[in-house]
Amino acid sequence: SHLLSPHIRREEAYADEHIRPRRLQDYIGQPVVREQMEIFIHAARHRGDALDHVLIFGPPGLGKTTLSHIIAHEMGANLRQTSGPVLEKAGDLAALLTNLEPHDVLFIDEIHRLSPMVEEILYPAMEDFQLDIMIGDGPAARSIKLDLPPFTLVGATTRAGLLTSPLRDRFGIVQRLEFYNVADLAYIVQRASTIIGATIDEGGAHEIAKRSRGTPRIANRLLRRVRDYAQVKGNGLIDADIADKALNMLNVDHQGFDHMDRRLLLAIMEKFDGGPVGVDSLAAAIGEERGTIEDVLEPFLIQQGFLMRTPRGRVATRHAWQHFGLNIPARLNL
Ligand code: ADP
Repeated sequence: SHLLSPHIRREEAYADEHIRPRRLQDYIGQPVVREQMEIFIHAARHRGDALDHVLIFGPPGLGKTTLSHIIAHEMGANLRQTSGPVLEKAGDLAALLTNLEPHDVLFIDEIHRLSPMVEEILYPAMEDFQLDIMIGDGPAARSIKLDLPPFTLVGATTRAGLLTSPLRDRFGIVQRLEFYNVADLAYIVQRASTIIGATIDEGGAHEIAKRSRGTPRIANRLLRRVRDYAQVKGNGLIDADIADKALNMLNVDHQGFDHMDRRLLLAIMEKFDGGPVGVDSLAAAIGEERGTIEDVLEPFLIQQGFLMRTPRGRVATRHAWQHFGLNIPARLNL
Protein backbone atom coordinates (compact mmCIF):
# COMPACT_ATOMS: atom_id res chain seq x y z
CA SER A 1 0.00 0.00 0.00
CA HIS A 2 2.28 2.74 -1.30
CA LEU A 3 -0.50 5.32 -0.99
CA LEU A 4 0.17 5.83 2.68
CA SER A 5 3.92 5.49 2.58
CA PRO A 6 5.50 8.66 3.89
CA HIS A 7 8.51 8.13 1.61
CA ILE A 8 8.70 9.98 -1.64
CA ARG A 9 8.10 7.97 -4.78
CA ARG A 10 10.20 8.57 -7.84
CA GLU A 11 7.28 9.39 -10.12
CA GLU A 12 5.93 12.06 -7.81
CA ALA A 13 9.15 14.00 -7.39
CA TYR A 14 8.17 16.41 -10.15
CA ALA A 15 4.67 17.04 -8.85
CA ASP A 16 6.15 17.46 -5.40
CA GLU A 17 8.66 20.13 -6.45
CA HIS A 18 5.78 22.10 -7.86
CA ILE A 19 3.83 22.41 -4.67
CA ARG A 20 6.72 22.65 -2.21
CA PRO A 21 6.44 25.96 -0.33
CA ARG A 22 9.38 28.31 -0.91
CA ARG A 23 8.75 30.91 1.77
CA LEU A 24 8.46 30.57 5.49
CA GLN A 25 5.05 32.19 5.34
CA ASP A 26 3.79 29.31 3.20
CA TYR A 27 5.17 26.71 5.61
CA ILE A 28 1.94 25.65 7.23
CA GLY A 29 1.68 24.35 10.79
CA GLN A 30 4.74 23.73 13.00
CA PRO A 31 4.19 27.10 14.74
CA VAL A 32 7.14 26.71 17.12
CA VAL A 33 9.59 25.84 14.37
CA ARG A 34 8.32 28.62 12.21
CA GLU A 35 8.49 31.31 14.83
CA GLN A 36 11.99 30.34 15.88
CA MET A 37 13.30 30.09 12.34
CA GLU A 38 11.82 33.45 11.48
CA ILE A 39 13.81 35.05 14.28
CA PHE A 40 17.07 33.18 13.66
CA ILE A 41 16.98 33.88 9.91
CA HIS A 42 16.11 37.50 10.39
CA ALA A 43 18.90 38.00 12.93
CA ALA A 44 21.53 36.24 10.82
CA ARG A 45 20.58 38.26 7.76
CA HIS A 46 20.65 41.47 9.72
CA ARG A 47 24.18 40.76 10.97
CA GLY A 48 25.29 39.60 7.54
CA ASP A 49 26.25 36.17 8.95
CA ALA A 50 25.59 32.69 7.70
CA LEU A 51 22.78 31.06 9.67
CA ASP A 52 23.93 28.65 12.40
CA HIS A 53 23.86 24.97 11.48
CA VAL A 54 20.39 23.47 11.73
CA LEU A 55 19.44 19.91 12.65
CA ILE A 56 15.89 18.91 11.73
CA PHE A 57 14.44 15.69 12.94
CA GLY A 58 11.09 14.03 12.46
CA PRO A 59 9.42 11.15 10.59
CA PRO A 60 9.57 11.13 6.76
CA GLY A 61 7.25 13.36 4.76
CA LEU A 62 6.79 16.05 7.42
CA GLY A 63 8.74 18.80 5.69
CA LYS A 64 12.47 18.49 6.47
CA THR A 65 13.60 18.95 2.88
CA THR A 66 11.04 21.70 2.43
CA LEU A 67 12.38 23.58 5.43
CA SER A 68 15.92 23.37 4.09
CA HIS A 69 14.76 24.87 0.77
CA ILE A 70 13.01 27.63 2.67
CA ILE A 71 16.08 28.40 4.77
CA ALA A 72 18.20 28.81 1.63
CA HIS A 73 15.56 30.91 -0.05
CA GLU A 74 15.02 33.17 2.94
CA MET A 75 18.78 33.59 3.39
CA GLY A 76 19.08 34.52 -0.29
CA ALA A 77 21.56 31.68 -0.72
CA ASN A 78 21.99 28.58 -2.87
CA LEU A 79 20.93 25.14 -1.71
CA ARG A 80 23.19 22.13 -2.27
CA GLN A 81 21.52 18.85 -1.57
CA THR A 82 22.98 15.46 -0.75
CA SER A 83 22.42 12.60 1.65
CA GLY A 84 24.37 10.54 4.17
CA PRO A 85 24.57 7.30 2.16
CA VAL A 86 25.59 9.13 -1.04
CA LEU A 87 28.71 10.63 0.55
CA GLU A 88 30.84 7.49 0.53
CA LYS A 89 34.32 8.98 0.63
CA ALA A 90 35.83 11.96 2.40
CA GLY A 91 36.56 13.40 -1.05
CA ASP A 92 32.85 13.42 -1.96
CA LEU A 93 32.12 15.78 0.89
CA ALA A 94 35.30 17.82 0.29
CA ALA A 95 34.22 18.43 -3.32
CA LEU A 96 30.85 19.73 -2.18
CA LEU A 97 32.29 21.92 0.57
CA THR A 98 34.91 23.57 -1.63
CA ASN A 99 32.23 24.54 -4.14
CA LEU A 100 30.11 26.42 -1.64
CA GLU A 101 29.66 30.16 -1.78
CA PRO A 102 29.37 32.29 1.34
CA HIS A 103 26.12 31.67 3.26
CA ASP A 104 25.12 28.73 1.06
CA VAL A 105 23.02 25.99 2.59
CA LEU A 106 24.29 22.43 2.39
CA PHE A 107 21.45 20.01 3.05
CA ILE A 108 22.41 16.50 4.13
CA ASP A 109 19.41 14.20 4.34
CA GLU A 110 19.74 11.03 6.45
CA ILE A 111 22.73 12.59 8.14
CA HIS A 112 22.82 9.73 10.65
CA ARG A 113 24.05 7.51 7.83
CA LEU A 114 27.34 9.34 7.21
CA SER A 115 30.40 7.13 7.40
CA PRO A 116 32.71 7.91 10.34
CA MET A 117 35.43 9.11 7.92
CA VAL A 118 33.12 11.59 6.27
CA GLU A 119 31.81 12.70 9.64
CA GLU A 120 35.38 13.50 10.74
CA ILE A 121 35.72 15.94 7.84
CA LEU A 122 32.50 17.60 8.85
CA TYR A 123 33.57 18.55 12.38
CA PRO A 124 36.22 21.20 11.54
CA ALA A 125 34.15 22.29 8.55
CA MET A 126 31.17 23.02 10.78
CA GLU A 127 33.14 24.47 13.64
CA ASP A 128 35.85 26.60 12.02
CA PHE A 129 34.92 26.51 8.32
CA GLN A 130 38.12 24.56 7.77
CA LEU A 131 38.67 21.63 5.48
CA ASP A 132 41.25 19.26 6.84
CA ILE A 133 41.91 16.42 4.45
CA MET A 134 44.57 13.82 3.67
CA ILE A 135 45.59 13.42 0.08
CA GLY A 136 47.50 10.50 -1.32
CA ASP A 137 48.49 7.51 0.79
CA GLY A 138 51.53 5.76 2.12
CA PRO A 139 54.71 7.82 2.67
CA ALA A 140 53.60 10.43 0.12
CA ALA A 141 50.38 11.19 2.01
CA ARG A 142 50.03 14.66 3.40
CA SER A 143 47.32 16.65 4.98
CA ILE A 144 46.08 19.90 3.54
CA LYS A 145 44.01 22.60 5.16
CA LEU A 146 41.69 24.88 3.24
CA ASP A 147 39.52 27.75 4.36
CA LEU A 148 35.85 27.33 3.53
CA PRO A 149 33.33 30.12 3.14
CA PRO A 150 30.92 30.48 6.06
CA PHE A 151 28.03 28.18 5.23
CA THR A 152 25.03 26.60 6.91
CA LEU A 153 24.76 22.88 7.26
CA VAL A 154 21.19 21.64 7.47
CA GLY A 155 21.06 18.02 8.57
CA ALA A 156 17.91 15.92 8.54
CA THR A 157 17.27 12.68 10.36
CA THR A 158 14.29 10.66 11.46
CA ARG A 159 15.40 10.46 15.09
CA ALA A 160 17.84 12.67 16.97
CA GLY A 161 19.00 9.64 18.94
CA LEU A 162 20.61 8.16 15.83
CA LEU A 163 23.30 10.84 15.69
CA THR A 164 26.67 10.60 17.38
CA SER A 165 26.91 13.17 20.12
CA PRO A 166 29.95 15.06 18.69
CA LEU A 167 27.93 15.62 15.53
CA ARG A 168 24.76 16.62 17.33
CA ASP A 169 26.67 19.07 19.51
CA ARG A 170 27.83 21.02 16.48
CA PHE A 171 24.35 22.16 15.52
CA GLY A 172 23.39 25.52 16.98
CA ILE A 173 19.72 25.12 16.06
CA VAL A 174 17.74 21.92 16.56
CA GLN A 175 14.17 21.64 15.30
CA ARG A 176 11.82 18.76 15.80
CA LEU A 177 8.90 18.39 13.40
CA GLU A 178 5.58 17.11 14.73
CA PHE A 179 2.76 15.34 12.93
CA TYR A 180 0.31 17.90 11.53
CA ASN A 181 -3.18 18.37 12.87
CA VAL A 182 -6.19 18.01 10.60
CA ALA A 183 -6.78 21.76 10.24
CA ASP A 184 -3.21 22.38 9.07
CA LEU A 185 -3.30 19.43 6.69
CA ALA A 186 -6.62 20.65 5.27
CA TYR A 187 -4.97 23.98 4.61
CA ILE A 188 -2.00 22.27 2.94
CA VAL A 189 -4.44 20.32 0.73
CA GLN A 190 -6.28 23.50 -0.22
CA ARG A 191 -3.07 25.30 -1.04
CA ALA A 192 -1.89 22.37 -3.19
CA SER A 193 -5.30 22.22 -4.93
CA THR A 194 -4.97 25.83 -5.97
CA ILE A 195 -1.52 25.17 -7.40
CA ILE A 196 -2.54 22.08 -9.37
CA GLY A 197 -5.88 23.58 -10.40
CA ALA A 198 -8.17 21.13 -8.60
CA THR A 199 -11.56 22.26 -7.28
CA ILE A 200 -12.13 21.31 -3.70
CA ASP A 201 -14.40 22.52 -0.93
CA GLU A 202 -13.71 22.62 2.80
CA GLY A 203 -15.37 19.27 3.44
CA GLY A 204 -13.26 17.60 0.78
CA ALA A 205 -10.03 19.05 2.13
CA HIS A 206 -11.01 18.01 5.65
CA GLU A 207 -11.76 14.43 4.61
CA ILE A 208 -8.40 14.06 2.86
CA ALA A 209 -6.60 15.72 5.78
CA LYS A 210 -8.18 13.36 8.32
CA ARG A 211 -6.93 10.34 6.47
CA SER A 212 -3.36 11.42 5.71
CA ARG A 213 -1.51 10.05 8.72
CA GLY A 214 -0.60 13.55 9.89
CA THR A 215 1.80 13.82 6.94
CA PRO A 216 1.80 16.51 4.21
CA ARG A 217 3.43 14.23 1.65
CA ILE A 218 0.60 11.72 2.05
CA ALA A 219 -2.05 14.46 1.99
CA ASN A 220 -0.73 15.78 -1.32
CA ARG A 221 -0.60 12.28 -2.79
CA LEU A 222 -4.15 11.43 -1.71
CA LEU A 223 -5.31 14.73 -3.19
CA ARG A 224 -3.99 13.73 -6.62
CA ARG A 225 -5.78 10.37 -6.49
CA VAL A 226 -9.05 11.80 -5.16
CA ARG A 227 -8.93 14.42 -7.88
CA ASP A 228 -8.81 11.66 -10.52
CA TYR A 229 -11.80 9.99 -8.92
CA ALA A 230 -13.78 13.25 -8.78
CA GLN A 231 -13.09 13.83 -12.44
CA VAL A 232 -14.25 10.40 -13.57
CA LYS A 233 -16.98 9.54 -11.07
CA GLY A 234 -18.24 13.04 -10.27
CA ASN A 235 -18.27 16.45 -11.85
CA GLY A 236 -14.70 17.33 -10.86
CA LEU A 237 -15.49 18.96 -7.54
CA ILE A 238 -13.81 17.33 -4.55
CA ASP A 239 -16.30 17.44 -1.69
CA ALA A 240 -16.50 15.33 1.47
CA ASP A 241 -18.68 12.67 -0.17
CA ILE A 242 -16.46 12.20 -3.23
CA ALA A 243 -13.33 12.22 -1.06
CA ASP A 244 -14.81 9.60 1.25
CA LYS A 245 -15.83 7.34 -1.64
CA ALA A 246 -12.47 7.72 -3.35
CA LEU A 247 -10.52 7.00 -0.18
CA ASN A 248 -12.69 3.97 0.61
CA MET A 249 -12.03 2.66 -2.88
CA LEU A 250 -8.32 3.23 -2.29
CA ASN A 251 -8.53 1.31 0.99
CA VAL A 252 -7.45 4.23 3.13
CA ASP A 253 -8.97 3.77 6.54
CA HIS A 254 -10.79 6.51 8.47
CA GLN A 255 -7.86 6.94 10.83
CA GLY A 256 -5.47 7.11 7.90
CA PHE A 257 -3.99 3.75 8.87
CA ASP A 258 -2.48 1.68 6.15
CA HIS A 259 -2.19 -2.09 6.16
CA MET A 260 1.15 -2.04 7.96
CA ASP A 261 -0.30 0.05 10.79
CA ARG A 262 -3.19 -2.38 10.99
CA ARG A 263 -0.89 -5.40 10.92
CA LEU A 264 1.27 -3.96 13.64
CA LEU A 265 -1.62 -3.21 15.97
CA LEU A 266 -3.41 -6.47 15.22
CA ALA A 267 -0.23 -8.45 15.83
CA ILE A 268 0.19 -6.88 19.26
CA MET A 269 -3.43 -7.58 20.14
CA GLU A 270 -3.90 -11.00 18.59
CA LYS A 271 -0.47 -12.58 18.87
CA PHE A 272 0.85 -10.94 22.01
CA ASP A 273 -2.33 -10.38 24.03
CA GLY A 274 -1.98 -6.62 23.68
CA GLY A 275 1.63 -6.54 24.81
CA PRO A 276 4.04 -5.60 26.20
CA VAL A 277 6.06 -7.05 23.35
CA GLY A 278 9.63 -6.23 22.36
CA VAL A 279 10.17 -4.45 19.07
CA ASP A 280 12.29 -7.30 17.68
CA SER A 281 9.58 -9.91 18.25
CA LEU A 282 7.12 -7.54 16.68
CA ALA A 283 9.36 -7.01 13.67
CA ALA A 284 9.62 -10.76 13.19
CA ALA A 285 5.86 -11.23 13.60
CA ILE A 286 4.89 -8.74 10.91
CA GLY A 287 7.92 -9.17 8.65
CA GLU A 288 8.99 -5.56 8.81
CA GLU A 289 12.36 -4.05 9.66
CA ARG A 290 12.86 -2.78 13.16
CA GLY A 291 14.00 0.62 11.82
CA THR A 292 10.80 1.05 9.81
CA ILE A 293 8.71 0.19 12.84
CA GLU A 294 10.58 2.69 14.99
CA ASP A 295 10.87 5.53 12.46
CA VAL A 296 7.73 5.28 10.37
CA LEU A 297 5.00 3.17 11.93
CA GLU A 298 5.26 3.77 15.65
CA PRO A 299 5.60 7.55 15.89
CA PHE A 300 2.17 8.12 14.35
CA LEU A 301 0.45 5.34 16.29
CA ILE A 302 1.91 6.66 19.52
CA GLN A 303 0.96 10.24 18.72
CA GLN A 304 -2.60 9.10 17.97
CA GLY A 305 -2.78 7.21 21.26
CA PHE A 306 -3.06 3.68 19.81
CA LEU A 307 0.27 2.42 21.00
CA MET A 308 2.50 2.95 24.02
CA ARG A 309 6.21 2.44 24.33
CA THR A 310 6.98 1.07 27.79
CA PRO A 311 10.27 -0.16 29.26
CA ARG A 312 8.96 -3.72 28.85
CA GLY A 313 7.87 -3.29 25.24
CA ARG A 314 5.02 -2.05 23.08
CA VAL A 315 1.47 -2.07 24.37
CA ALA A 316 -1.80 -1.61 22.44
CA THR A 317 -4.05 0.95 24.13
CA ARG A 318 -7.77 0.79 24.71
CA HIS A 319 -8.20 2.94 21.57
CA ALA A 320 -6.59 0.25 19.46
CA TRP A 321 -8.95 -2.48 20.70
CA GLN A 322 -11.90 -0.17 20.10
CA HIS A 323 -10.77 0.79 16.63
CA PHE A 324 -10.74 -2.84 15.51
CA GLY A 325 -13.98 -3.65 17.31
CA LEU A 326 -12.27 -6.15 19.58
CA ASN A 327 -13.20 -6.84 23.18
CA ILE A 328 -11.16 -4.64 25.45
CA PRO A 329 -9.26 -6.87 27.90
CA ALA A 330 -10.49 -6.56 31.46
CA ARG A 331 -7.14 -5.26 32.69
CA LEU A 332 -7.55 -2.13 30.51
CA ASN A 333 -10.99 -1.44 31.92
CA LEU A 334 -9.79 -0.75 35.42
P1 ADP B 1 10.75 15.18 4.34
O1 ADP B 1 12.00 15.82 3.81
O2 ADP B 1 10.57 15.42 5.81
O3 ADP B 1 10.60 13.74 4.00
P2 ADP B 1 9.41 17.00 2.50
O4 ADP B 1 10.01 18.29 2.93
O5 ADP B 1 9.93 16.43 1.22
O6 ADP B 1 9.49 15.91 3.67
O7 ADP B 1 7.81 17.24 2.42
C1 ADP B 1 6.98 16.45 1.62
C2 ADP B 1 5.98 17.31 0.87
O8 ADP B 1 5.03 17.81 1.80
C3 ADP B 1 6.61 18.54 0.21
O9 ADP B 1 6.74 18.37 -1.15
C4 ADP B 1 5.64 19.67 0.48
O10 ADP B 1 4.86 19.93 -0.66
C5 ADP B 1 4.75 19.19 1.57
N1 ADP B 1 5.00 19.91 2.83
C6 ADP B 1 5.82 19.54 3.83
N2 ADP B 1 5.75 20.39 4.86
C7 ADP B 1 4.87 21.35 4.52
C8 ADP B 1 4.36 22.52 5.18
N3 ADP B 1 4.75 22.85 6.43
N4 ADP B 1 3.46 23.27 4.52
C9 ADP B 1 3.05 22.92 3.30
N5 ADP B 1 3.47 21.84 2.62
C10 ADP B 1 4.38 21.05 3.22
